Amino acid sequence: MIGCDCEVCTSTDKKDNRLRSSILVQSKTTTIVVDTTPDFRYQMLRANVKHLDAVLFTHPHKDHIAGLDDVRAYNFFSKKPMEVYANEMTQQAVKKEFHYAFAEKTYPGIPKINFHTIDLEPFIVGDIPVIPVLVYHIQMPVLGFRFGDFTYITDAKTIEEDEMQKIRGSEVLTLNALRKEEHISHFSLPQAVDLVKELGIPSAYFTHISHQMGKHSEVNKALPEGMQLAWDGLCVTV
Ligand SMILES: [Zn+2]
Ligand SMILES: [Zn+2]
Ligand SMILES: [Zn+2]
Repeated sequence: MIGCDCEVCTSTDKKDNRLRSSILVQSKTTTIVVDTTPDFRYQMLRANVKHLDAVLFTHPHKDHIAGLDDVRAYNFFSKKPMEVYANEMTQQAVKKEFHYAFAEKTYPGIPKINFHTIDLEPFIVGDIPVIPVLVYHIQMPVLGFRFGDFTYITDAKTIEEDEMQKIRGSEVLTLNALRKEEHISHFSLPQAVDLVKELGIPSAYFTHISHQMGKHSEVNKALPEGMQLAWDGLCVTV
C-alpha cells in the first residue's frame, strides 16, 4: 500500500509484494485474462504475454477495469479489436470510464474493444469453455468463472446455494480472502477457509489479499491442508 511501513509492505519476501488481482488462463490455443487491473500493463510485461485473445470482466470496480486502455498494444500487433466479455453493468461502467474509445469521433491509438454480453449462460472463448458463477459483493453482482476443473472467484462476500453447486467438483478454486478480520464486502480468511471446506475442494488459493492479512509465510503456515495464499507469478496446471 502506498505510504505504508507495516511489516508486509516493507517485507523482503517476494510473496508479500503483490499487484492487484487478476489471472491469465491459457490453453494450447487460447489466452484469456480475467480483469484488467491498474497494474495490467506491468503484469503483462512481467509475465511476457505476447498474445491475448480475450478479456473477461468480473465486475466494474476500478481495481478490476482500470488497465483496459493498455490492450491497445495487443490491438496494434494483432490488428484486431480485443474481445471483451462482460455483463451489461460492467459494460456501462467501462464505456463511461473509457469514453474516448467509444466516442463517435475517435482518434488513432485508442484501445479497440469488441464487447460480448455475458450473463449466467456458459460460453466458449477459443477452445476454453467458461461457466459464469454469480456471487455477491455486498449487493453488487460479481461474476466468478469456472474453466473446466478450475474456478476463479474474486470480490465475493456471499454465494447462493444454486451457484455453489457450479463450483462443486472443481479440482482447484481461487477465492478472495481480504484479511483475517470481517469485512463488509469481501470474505475474511476464516470465511474463505470455511467455504472451501464446505465445497469440498481439494486445492484452494486465496487472492485479493490486503496488507492487513499479515506476512505470507506466517499466514500460509497456519492454513489447513490443501489451502494456500496465492502469490504473484503463481502458475497452476489443471
Ligand atoms: Zn502495509
Ligand atoms: Zn470489487
Ligand atoms: Zn477488488
